[in-house]
Amino acid sequence: MELYKQINKAGYEQVVFYRDSDSGLKAIISVHSTVLGPALGGARMWAYDSEEDAIEDVLRLSKGMTYKAAVAGLNLGGGKAVIIGDSKKDKNEKLLRAFGKFVDSLQGRYITAEDVGTCQEDMNIISQETKYVTGIAPERGGSGDPSPFTALGVYQGIKAAVEKVYGTTDLKGKVVAVQGVGNVGYYLCQYLASEGARLIVSDINTGALERAQEKFEVEVVSPQEIFGVDCDIFAPCALGAVVNDATLPEFKCKIIAGGANNVLAEPRHGDLLHKSGILYMPDYVINAGGLINVAQQLYGYDQEIVRNKVLKIYDNCVNVLKLAEKENIATYLAADRVAEQRLAAAKTEVSKVG
Ligand code: NAD
Repeated sequence: MELYKQINKAGYEQVVFYRDSDSGLKAIISVHSTVLGPALGGARMWAYDSEEDAIEDVLRLSKGMTYKAAVAGLNLGGGKAVIIGDSKKDKNEKLLRAFGKFVDSLQGRYITAEDVGTCQEDMNIISQETKYVTGIAPERGGSGDPSPFTALGVYQGIKAAVEKVYGTTDLKGKVVAVQGVGNVGYYLCQYLASEGARLIVSDINTGALERAQEKFEVEVVSPQEIFGVDCDIFAPCALGAVVNDATLPEFKCKIIAGGANNVLAEPRHGDLLHKSGILYMPDYVINAGGLINVAQQLYGYDQEIVRNKVLKIYDNCVNVLKLAEKENIATYLAADRVAEQRLAAAKTEVSKVG
């Protein structure tokens, strides 16, 4: 009963549990909202410590997708799936096909995509059981690797932040500390370097660091040092919760804007950034390029269309910053308001039509 209360209070439309004894699949799909369109969100495969943890994760993540799609201007709702299990040991074709059948049973209310523990090849398998799947291989008409577009959006968001703080979008000579030069971080460095920004990077993977060093002029610092380096912009592109009680006193930057999800350890850290005068570009606004990319597969994939939509992340970021200034609120709250306003307007339209 507690679960029903929680779902009801937070306005979730539907949460579905699925068990397939043949394949061993245990999965949950949460459809937070279909107000703006079908609920799109990745399928995360993770060896959760408990079923409660899996439920909490799928609820939190699906709500996040509603907000991300709303601010990105997509006609999509928010959903997410979790598959309970270890992706390295438990994932196989049978299980993925069973998951595909589960997705199909919702008849398009939920559309799946890759996430932690699932990959493009998995989406190809799932697509044999359902058409409600994105992120399949480009040679099959799919959207492929989202990272270059996520990085393009982050680059646009950084420009919007730089304009607000320095009065120009020019990044020449700006110092950017990039935490994590994996997929998104690497492509982001490419954009920043092409404009003459100075790069300071860190990563725990020496291969990733070497790849960045070979291609760009970068100063490498340790994963501990990256938070406190003298820079204009700190761009988190590795983990979540990097703005926390321990790192806050270290930051010397004027802007925090990067590709990572869940950058704030807790909402109050967003308020503390606001008070300290560091401009934080909310994660789900600035990193929506990957979602825009996979979503395009639903309408016929076209890279040029995706590129133009991703460039609009600049405007989305400007709108959030304007609202934050007008209301004198933290930027993460302003982003939530922008999303909620769009959802409320769409609900009003629906009730008028109804
Ligand atoms: P990735 O795994 O390719 O890259 C992450 C990099 O961070 C890796 O090289 C890893 O070694 C490094 N790293 C891990 N811990 C670190 C630490 N403590 N210090 C420094 N570096 C560390 O992942 P990605 O696809 O580039 O995604 C990066 C972030 O962006 C993630 O938070 C992801 O959720 C988010 N994101 C990615 C996309 C996308 O399109 N790939 C879209 C939206 C959000």
